[in-house]
Amino acid sequence: MKRTNTFAVRPLSDDGEHLLRDLLDASAALWNEVNYQRLMRYNDEDGFEGDVWDADTGRLEGQYKGVLGASTAQQVIRTNSEAWRGFFQLKEQYHDDSNTSVTEHPEPPGFRGNEEEGRQLKTVIRNTSYTVEWGERSRLEILVGSELKDRYDHTGRLRLEIAGDPNWPDYDKQGRLDLWYDETDNTFRASQPVTISDDARATPLADETAALDVGANNLVACTTTTGQQYLYDGRDLFDRFRETTREIARLQSKLEDGQYSSERIRRLYRKRTRRRDHAQEALCRDLVERLYEDGMDTVYIGGLTDVLETHWSVDTNAKTHNFWAFKQFTERLACTAEEYGISVEVRSEAWTSQECPQCGSTDRTTRHQDTLTCPCGFEGHADITASETFLERHTSEAVRPMARPVRFEWDDHTWSESPRSPARDSPKEQRTDPSTVYRDGNVASGDSQAV
Ligand SMILES: [Zn+2]
Repeated sequence: MKRTNTFAVRPLSDDGEHLLRDLLDASAALWNEVNYQRLMRYNDEDGFEGDVWDADTGRLEGQYKGVLGASTAQQVIRTNSEAWRGFFQLKEQYHDDSNTSVTEHPEPPGFRGNEEEGRQLKTVIRNTSYTVEWGERSRLEILVGSELKDRYDHTGRLRLEIAGDPNWPDYDKQGRLDLWYDETDNTFRASQPVTISDDARATPLADETAALDVGANNLVACTTTTGQQYLYDGRDLFDRFRETTREIARLQSKLEDGQYSSERIRRLYRKRTRRRDHAQEALCRDLVERLYEDGMDTVYIGGLTDVLETHWSVDTNAKTHNFWAFKQFTERLACTAEEYGISVEVRSEAWTSQECPQCGSTDRTTRHQDTLTCPCGFEGHADITASETFLERHTSEAVRPMARPVRFEWDDHTWSESPRSPARDSPKEQRTDPSTVYRDGNVASGDSQAV
């Protein structure tokens, strides 16, 4: 099984931090130079592939190996080559009429920022040029070039402290390491692909089932056959995603004629994506660990219920899909679940989030904000109810009595339990229970139309 350890790293001193920044910046500069040489040849020859590989990367390698070390210089160039090969492959598929998987004309590999506005600090380290030591005080050690070593009177092996525990500390083989500076939260991060043996996979503790309802306001509402209910609140994330999107649009409207983007715009896109990916990955991990401990062996995913409501415009839906990246999320979830031996089933068949669990009516219910109400007297949290109905549809076992739902909020690092957990389904007279009321009005459905 191939898996990836991702973790934050911290330099051990100011000098260490300067050295690391120099290393990442020089890697980005090398990437840009190689990419520029290739792009020039590509444009000169009307997109003929052959010339791209004529760029004199040997000279550039010689120029940068003093700072980066020969192996990292080569690795950066190789990674750029892979990006170009990937691009040509996509282009071929795009021009192949029998292949419908690529619908947009692909773009050649981009640049990692520029010197003036700042480069995107990022490098890639060959698998034999770094070591990771897992333990109480986990350490990452990477080789640096002789020029950097002299500049900082350094040993030539940069030691970095690793924060947090890896998901996969026991592996057979390590791949090349990606190392970058995350502007979103001013943290250096690394991702380490590893190969682990298949028997490292966990076995489910029981054969329980969970059903997830995926949306934009509540990212995930979940009900399990053991009677647990979880709700991951996505409002803040979604709001920030929309804010960034608006800022991108504002900057785009100020671009001069003939200019399509700027480094600032690209940086905002990166920031937006990274923030979402980080929250999504953490959500998958948090949820799957809970489900594993609750004894799940199967998880059903459905949705996006609050997104596909009819009053949402096509445009809004597109933007929401962009935010949630449903396919990416399910893949991520399936991948995380696989580690625990839990299988994931995606069910996209039309099923309604508007069904009343009490009387079965679908056309008499009303959804206002997060609350689903029915003339029969039912009132409950719409997304949690939807996940409950969804679960009942996919399991023959009796669902155990429900505990009080637990709500989680994202604070940029972890999902933690919120004191404002929604109440259980309740008859109408209990409607004044303050815990069923969301923070004031800013989540009104009218607001969601303004996405
Ligand atoms: Zn009803």
